[in-house]
Amino acid sequence: MLAKVGNPLFRDMPTTIFEVMSQLSLKHQAINLGQGFPDDRGPDDVRHAAADALLNGYNQYPSMLGTPELRQALAGHARRFYDLDVDWASEVLVTSGATEALGACLLGLIEPGDEVVLFEPMYDSYLPIVRLAGGVPKIVTLKAPDWSFTRDDLERVFSPRTKLLVINNPLNPVGKVFDRTELALIAEYLQRFDAYAVCDEVYEHLVFDGRPHIPMITLPGLRERCLKIGSAGKTFSLTGWKVGYITGAPALLQPVAKAHQFLTFTTAPNLQAGVAYGLGKDNDYFTGLAASQQAKRDRLARGLTEAGFKVLPSSGTYFLIADIAGMGFEGDDAAFCMHLTEAAGVTAIPVSVFFAENPVRNFIRFCFCKQDSLLDAAVDRLKTWCARSV
Ligand code: PMP
Ligand code: GLN
Repeated sequence: MLAKVGNPLFRDMPTTIFEVMSQLSLKHQAINLGQGFPDDRGPDDVRHAAADALLNGYNQYPSMLGTPELRQALAGHARRFYDLDVDWASEVLVTSGATEALGACLLGLIEPGDEVVLFEPMYDSYLPIVRLAGGVPKIVTLKAPDWSFTRDDLERVFSPRTKLLVINNPLNPVGKVFDRTELALIAEYLQRFDAYAVCDEVYEHLVFDGRPHIPMITLPGLRERCLKIGSAGKTFSLTGWKVGYITGAPALLQPVAKAHQFLTFTTAPNLQAGVAYGLGKDNDYFTGLAASQQAKRDRLARGLTEAGFKVLPSSGTYFLIADIAGMGFEGDDAAFCMHLTEAAGVTAIPVSVFFAENPVRNFIRFCFCKQDSLLDAAVDRLKTWCARSV
């Protein structure tokens, strides 16, 4: 018997819900609308660019900051979509996915005792890394159904000890897109308390209904205070590639790059070449991506409503939320999702896992970035199940 054990922070934490539900889905041969990944192959030309670089290009360690080609493409992307001037050599860092980008930002910026403002529901990797870094979480609970917050909420959590805020916009799991007024209110507090923002904007190209994506870093006064995180996984429907990127002022990026150098150091060069190529695609690609996912959102929302679910609006991401409160099920959202996988053959994700302080237990998350035929098959199964059980 070993007397010494692993770090309780990790040892006592459950396995991430995405792995748990995907394994359960597999076991029951269910249709997996849980974990967020598209079920197509991703753009042919982007995959060819990566394949060509793998066969004919350089396959040794690239610079720890990322290949110059990809960093230049990211600076071009910032200029094209957000009118943002970025120095590719000192203001861009390529990471192994947004997950690593988040880890590097939080480990690179937080000192033990620093307060960190977070909004819940929140992506499940944030809190463990904040805690690992010794940060003290200060949480704002967004209120359903529009996931709103108030000035009083910010007044309660900000203090002179606030080091940074983490914001995910568009927001996984609920599909909220923060509007300019909300972002401006947050900006006011960041400036008043001299704090930074780590901005997880992996769904920047998955904003619907003609709404703009407003990167926090473009707000007046925030250019030096924000690190903007993106993910090629989302922008090119290639979630397995794990290519992420961070854009921000050198003073903020520098400690983050130091954390990155001992997390992964660098990222596969052929995948970086594929992403650099992809970022140069014409505007039709990017508007087409949002339009096709918007159509899938509408298709699934319609089907779920017909089946008897109450669906909440979603303005972005891969996800929409159904309210199960009125469905007569005895048990919480987690029990509901287990039961749905086993009895209906469709997997969703319980939303309570995205809360640390005030969980709501009547919402479940469905992922819609799937072939239409798969969405239809899931809806058929849910209609059959609802007709039997509700
Ligand atoms: N942030 C959010 C909000 C996400 O939904 C995800 C999952 N894709 C990530 C970060 C991680 O992205 P990546 O797969 O690039 O690590
Ligand atoms: N971001 C994905 C989701 O929210 C999951 C990524 C993962 O499994 N780590 O479904």
